[in-house]
Amino acid sequence: QFPFGRRLPCDIYWHGVSFHDSNIFSGQVNKFPGMTETVRKITLSRAMRTMQDLFPLEYNFYPRSWILPEELPLFVAEVRMMKDSNPSWKPTFIVKPDGGCQGDGIYLIKDPSDIRLTGSIQSRPAVVQEYICKPLLVDKLKFDIRLYVLLKSLEPLEIYIAKDGLSRFCTEPYQEPTLKNLQQVFMHLTNYSLNIHSGNFIHSDSANTGSKRTFSSILCRLSSRGADVKKLWSDIISLVIKTIIALTPELKVYYQSDIPAGKPGPTCFQILGFDILLMKDLKPMLLEVNANPSMRIEHEQELSPGVFENVPSPVDEKVKVAVIRDTLRLMDPQKKKRKDTHLSFHTYLLIFPTQLQSLLAGIARMKDKQHKHHSLKLSLKLKFYLKLGLCQSSEQAPGASEEPPDAAPGPEAALPSLFLKQVFPKYARHFSYLRLVDRVAALFIRFLGVKGTTKLGPTGFRTFIRNCKLSNSNFSMAAVDILYIDITRRWNSMGIDHKDSRMCLQAFVEAFFCLAQKKYKALPLHKQVLSLIELCECRLAALHGKRLVWGCG
Ligand code: ADP
Repeated sequence: QFPFGRRLPCDIYWHGVSFHDSNIFSGQVNKFPGMTETVRKITLSRAMRTMQDLFPLEYNFYPRSWILPEELPLFVAEVRMMKDSNPSWKPTFIVKPDGGCQGDGIYLIKDPSDIRLTGSIQSRPAVVQEYICKPLLVDKLKFDIRLYVLLKSLEPLEIYIAKDGLSRFCTEPYQEPTLKNLQQVFMHLTNYSLNIHSGNFIHSDSANTGSKRTFSSILCRLSSRGADVKKLWSDIISLVIKTIIALTPELKVYYQSDIPAGKPGPTCFQILGFDILLMKDLKPMLLEVNANPSMRIEHEQELSPGVFENVPSPVDEKVKVAVIRDTLRLMDPQKKKRKDTHLSFHTYLLIFPTQLQSLLAGIARMKDKQHKHHSLKLSLKLKFYLKLGLCQSSEQAPGASEEPPDAAPGPEAALPSLFLKQVFPKYARHFSYLRLVDRVAALFIRFLGVKGTTKLGPTGFRTFIRNCKLSNSNFSMAAVDILYIDITRRWNSMGIDHKDSRMCLQAFVEAFFCLAQKKYKALPLHKQVLSLIELCECRLAALHGKRLVWGCG
C-alpha cells in the first residue's frame, strides 16, 4: 500500500476494485480497464444477446433477458406472444437492478405488469430475466456455484479455471415459485450476504456440510448418484470460454483506449467470479460475472451482542488461497526471464514490503488486551501472506531468496501443483468460430483514429465504409450518414455517457449486422456477418498493399 504515492515501479500491481491508474508504464496490473463496466448486468446481457442472435444454440446457457426500461414494451409483447402460443406456460421472472450486487433490489414477478417502475431502487435501469424454476437441489436446498476464472491475457486470449469453487446455499427448503412464496429470499436467492442473516445459516468447518461448501463436495455426491460429472465440468468450461468470448470485443476497445498499442504500458490480468446455477438436468446456467469477487477467507462471528470476531473460514481458504497463489505463480514476471521454476521472493517483496512491515509492527503493538481483536485481524492477514508463500516466516532461513536459481530447489518446489487449469488456448479449436464480434471490434478499433477513445465519429464511420467499398448505387453515402445517426442516437439514449454523441462498439456491431443482412440476404445471420467481415478484411488488406507500393514509389 502506498498511501503517500508510489515511488518505485513494481512487477505486479494489485488494485482493489478496478483499473484506475494511468501512470503505470510497466509490469502487470490485476485489473483490465473497463472490466467493471463490461460485466454489469445490462452490458453482459447485451453482449450475450448479440452472441445469442449469432449462435442461438451455443449461447442457450444464459436466461432470456430484457433490458429495462427501454425494452419493457418488447418484454410485455414477447411474454404475451409466448403465453398465447403455449397457454400452459406459467413463467416467473427475476428483476435485477443494473450495477446491483449481493441480491440488492432483486425481486420475482409472475407477470410483466408487476414490474415496479417507481420508487428509488426499482426505477433504476435493470435486467428482467426468465427465472430458472427447476434448479438442482441438494438437501432440498437451492444453491449456486462461484467459480474463479483467471483471464491471464486478452491478446492472445488465455483463460484459466480453478479446479474447485464454492457452493452457496439457500437457507429455506426450495419450492417452485408461487404467488405465496415469491418474496421468500432465503428460498430463492443464494447470495451469501443475504442468507447469513437467516437463523438457519450454518457456518461450517468442513467442505461438505453447512451453507457454504466446496463445489467438489457437491460433485462427489452427484458422482455417487451416478451423474456424469465429467460432462458437467466440460459444460462449465465451455460456458466460461463462451462467456469470455462474448466479453472480449468490448474489453479490447477499452484496452486500446487506456493502453494504446506501441506505447509503454502495463499488461493486465484479472480474477473473475462466475456465478453459475445448475438446473435439475445438470445443465449449467450463467447468472452473472463478478469483476471484483470477494477474496475474504474469514467471516464475522458475533460473540456477544455487538461484539464481532473474525473467524477463519476453511472452505473459503481452501479455494481462494489457491486461486491467488496460482495467479501470482502464473503472472510471475521472473518466470519469463528464467527457465527454471524457482520462485523469486524479490518480486513479491516489491509488492508487499510496506504491508509486511506495518503488519509486524502492528501485531507487536496490539498484543495487549484492549487491542486483541485488531491483533488477531493483523495476524490473520500475515498468515494469509505466509500461506501464499509470498513472504518468509522468521523460522525460515533468511537469505533463501538470494540463492542462485540453480542452487537447491526453490520454494515453488514445495508448493502444491497448479489449482488453475488452462482452458484457452488449450480448447481454442472448438471455440474459435465463435469469435466473430472480435473481428468486428478489430475493424471498429482500426477506424477510431485518435488513440485514447472508445467511440467512433461520423468521419471514421464514413472512412470505414469508403475503404471497405461498402457504398454503391443502392447504398449512397447519404444513406450511410443516416444509418450512423439513427443507430448512434438510439444507443446513446440508452447509455450512461449521454455527453459523447459518437458511436459506441455495440452501435457499430448493430450497424455492421445491418449491412451484412442487406448484402447477403439469404444466409443465416452468422454467415452474413462472417461474409462481410471477410470482405472488409480482404479489401483493407488490398488497400494496405496498394499504399505500401505507393509509399515505395
Ligand atoms: P447479485 O449480483 O445481486 O447477486 P445475481 O444475478 O447473482 O445478482 O442474482 C442473485 C441471486 O438470485 C443468484 O445468486 C441466484 O440465486 C438468484 N438468481 C439470479 N438470476 C436467476 C435466474 N435467472 N433464475 C433463478 N435464480 C436466479
